[in-house]
Amino acid sequence: MCEPSNESMALRNCFPLLLILLPVCPALAQEGPPDHPRVEIAPSHELRFGPNVLQVDFAAGDLDLPADAILAHIRAAASAVATYYGRLPVARARLLLVPVAGRSGIMQGTTWPGMNGFQGFTRIRIGQHTTTSELGEDWTTTHELVHMAFPTLPDEQHWMEEGLATYVEPIARVATGELEARQVWRDMVYGMRKGEPAEGDLGLDRTHTWGRTYWGGALFCLVADVQIRRETQDRKGLQDALRAIVAQGGTINHEWTLDQALAIGDRATGTHVLTQMYAEWKDKPVQVDLMKLWEELGIRWTAGGPIEFVASAPLARIRDSIAGERSHAQPAAGVSGTR
Ligand SMILES: [Zn+2]
Repeated sequence: MCEPSNESMALRNCFPLLLILLPVCPALAQEGPPDHPRVEIAPSHELRFGPNVLQVDFAAGDLDLPADAILAHIRAAASAVATYYGRLPVARARLLLVPVAGRSGIMQGTTWPGMNGFQGFTRIRIGQHTTTSELGEDWTTTHELVHMAFPTLPDEQHWMEEGLATYVEPIARVATGELEARQVWRDMVYGMRKGEPAEGDLGLDRTHTWGRTYWGGALFCLVADVQIRRETQDRKGLQDALRAIVAQGGTINHEWTLDQALAIGDRATGTHVLTQMYAEWKDKPVQVDLMKLWEELGIRWTAGGPIEFVASAPLARIRDSIAGERSHAQPAAGVSGTR
């Protein structure tokens, strides 16, 4: 479902060539990852989240870091997702780590729908010389696991799959204390403008550029989140819509239309925000006044300086509800074990 690179969070660079290859992913799912059909697997590790399990496997290859350090990182990523959604999205998920000789860092991730009894399967390529510091900077693992928490959509709506993962990943990591709220809003300030429609844009369903796919989709999510919270006096947010979609079976191993998913999301918040926004954004270039939005949310910055929060801003409470400096949530019940 995704092929992000290991660029910094703010860049979230993706290779356009890989986006072109994306439509073949569901077909590949029938046969397993294309270039690792018969990898040698070390004994599996199971990370448990209530009744749901993430099985972590290491393909053959050398890694400088001990397995425990890498497993702790995977556990933190999965805990962020489980905390945001209130559960690990699928009953049985599998994550395969594929060491890459001579390289360093989390290099790339891809997630497929169900395979061999698992409803979701993520493959992460990890460099042999990856350090704990590089693991600390990795957003790819969380991003990939978020993909399991939404149905597989037609190609025209791929922007929603990527936009959602781009938007939810840092917010989920704030909730478990992995990221600071200021860092998340800084990345949004610098990232969201890459999602704005350029000249000639035909709307999200018909403009499949990298910027519109990842950040255009994330912008849709941010605007929807703020609007749901405005209309419900901050009692409901996008998170409630997304949890309802997962609860009603909207996970990666099911193929839905986007209308189906958004209707469930709207029912959960008692609004029509998602369906109305989609009707407007799908085939037209909708401009968002980002500067006005940041001002209303109470987000200020100077060139190269840190983000400052304005407590008296009209939407300051909504900003904090999305990603704030309040006390962090307790990670969802995550008990790890090795078999
Ligand atoms: Zn992705």
